[in-house]
This record gives sequence, C-alpha cells and structure tokens, in this order.
Amino acid sequence: MDFPGTHILSVKQFELEDVEKIFKVADSMEPYAHRRLITKVLEGAILGNMFFEPSTRTRVSFGCAFNLLGGHVRETTDVKTSAISKGESLYDTARVISGYSDVIVMRHPKPGSVEEFARASRVPVLNGGDGANEHPSQALLDLYTLKKELGSRGQDIDGMKIAMVGDLKHGRTVHSLSQLLMLHKNIKITLIAPTELRMPEDIVNDLRKSGHDVTETDDMEAGLVDNDTLYLTRIQEERFTTKIEADIYRGRYRLNQAIYTRYCQPNTVIMHPLPRDSRAEANELDNDLNLHPSLAIFRQTDNGVLIRMALFALTLGVYENIEETATEVPWYTERRF
Ligand code: ASP
Repeated sequence: MDFPGTHILSVKQFELEDVEKIFKVADSMEPYAHRRLITKVLEGAILGNMFFEPSTRTRVSFGCAFNLLGGHVRETTDVKTSAISKGESLYDTARVISGYSDVIVMRHPKPGSVEEFARASRVPVLNGGDGANEHPSQALLDLYTLKKELGSRGQDIDGMKIAMVGDLKHGRTVHSLSQLLMLHKNIKITLIAPTELRMPEDIVNDLRKSGHDVTETDDMEAGLVDNDTLYLTRIQEERFTTKIEADIYRGRYRLNQAIYTRYCQPNTVIMHPLPRDSRAEANELDNDLNLHPSLAIFRQTDNGVLIRMALFALTLGVYENIEETATEVPWYTERRF
C-alpha cells in the first residue's frame, strides 16, 4: 500500500505487510513518544481533530501524537458547536476543513460517515471511529500490544488463543480487531457475548473462512478457560435505544482477581480498549486487577501514541525524515514508560 495521501478508513484496506510497516514505524517513534528526543518533522502542519462523539483516549492521543511530531492541532469536539448543527452536510464540512488542515481525524456516530466525509476531503482522513462500524487505529494498537505482550513470552499472533468478551455486536474495536486477525493464521477465538449482542455473523464467517477456530458462547466462565489473552469490552450504551435496554446486559460479564485466578491460565493477558465502566452495577474489569502484571490496558494506551504517530508519519510521507530534526529533550522527564 502506498501510504502518503491515503485515507485510513478501514482495516480491510491493509495487507499483512502494511500492518508490519506501520508497526516498524511505530517502533521507531519510541524515543519521541517516550520524551527522550524531540522532532519537528511536522512543524507548520495542522491536524483537524474532529470528534462528533465522546472520546478521551483516541482524541487526546491523536492530538498528542501530532504534537510529538511537531505539528499543531485544531479541535472540534461537539456537534452542537459545529455548523453540522445548522444542517451543514458532511460534504461541505469536509471541503472547508480540508482547506484548513493537512490531515483530519474524524469520529462520528454514523457508520460509513467518515468514508463519506473522506470522499469530499482534499487531505488524508483517518477514521477515529464511525458508529458501531470500525475503529482502525484502536485495532492496530491492540494488535501491536498483543504482539509485544505475547512476544515477551516467546509467542506469536499466529497460533494464539484469544477470548473477546462483552458487547460484540456494537463494539467497533472488536470488529476491526477481528478483521486484522484475518491476516493471521490458526487462531483459536472464543466469542463470549449475550445471544442478542453476538458478533455480527459476517465477521464470524469471515474469521472461519480465514482458517481460525471460532467458538461462540454466552457462558463467560466456560469461555475464560484456556486463552492467552482476554479482550474485554464495555456494553455500548450509546448504541441502544434506551438506557434501560443497555442495563439488561450491564454487569453480566465481570472479571476480577478471584474469577481470573479460578478460570484463567496464569499470566493470561488482560486487554480492554477502555473506557471500562467502573460503576458498581457494571464493574466489568475490577480495580483489584489494577496491579496485575498481565493487565495490559495502560500499555495499550501508551502504544496508541506510537501507532498514531506512525499513521501520521506514513500518510504525510515523513517517516524517513524524522531523525533529521531530532534534538535532545531539555526538560526534566521522569522515567514513566
Ligand atoms: N473507546 C472505544 C471506542 O471508541 C471503546 C468504547 O468506547 O467502549 O469504540
């Protein structure tokens, strides 16, 4: 794939070699993301960071990634304060904002909307999540994290055993992650979800067609046994018609230290795209696992910056020039990575 100028809308556009390229560039971003070196390779460039749905990690880490490459960030974080609330079309907004920006990240509640926006944009558009459809940068950082976590124990993505748990119907992160897993071989995948919130059938079929061994169950305890990784998800309340409907499923699947010890293999990696719903009635991933060495959720968020830096560096065609402007960080930085 030729990255410069390309929209990143779906993980379906990647071959395995593209994913490996992104990971290689992400690795090279570490000194900058970890505050050892500064680069100004994107000095003067502007990111239009447009989020028409709630976000903390994706919005801030895309912004932070752009800043770490030396660029400036302009944010729109609310439909109410944007002209979309006056009836402006995605086409017009895209034409306008792409005149102000060098690259755009967009999140929108409607599946397919980011693609529609990208068709009218004059600069590359990166999908920050379009409804229940896709979340490409999250899936890339999830796979990158998985590779590192399993790699540190001599394992690989090919041949791994993973359980995905929760709202698999509406969770765009598991949809995109599943698509990326289709590029790999011989994975044992257990899908744990209430019957009404099962993974879309076409994705399950495609996983099987890719040669993976897929089991679906609504029984969490049975599904937790014999995995290398658990990928937990939140009930996507915003995709239900009413909160009452979402409440039916909230709290059905919980992981805490006692359940982990009883049912999981020792050292099973625990992942979650976050936010985790920590309210008492949900508590899907308990705080009593916070210090567990296999809890990878904050390594996922740290890795997200590397992946997003790589996506900018590739789509703007500067990944080979980063070192040219590199200087030492002059301020005090505590070792935090
Ligand atoms: N942050 C992820 C997303 O935007 C997961 C979630 O919201 O549950 O899809």
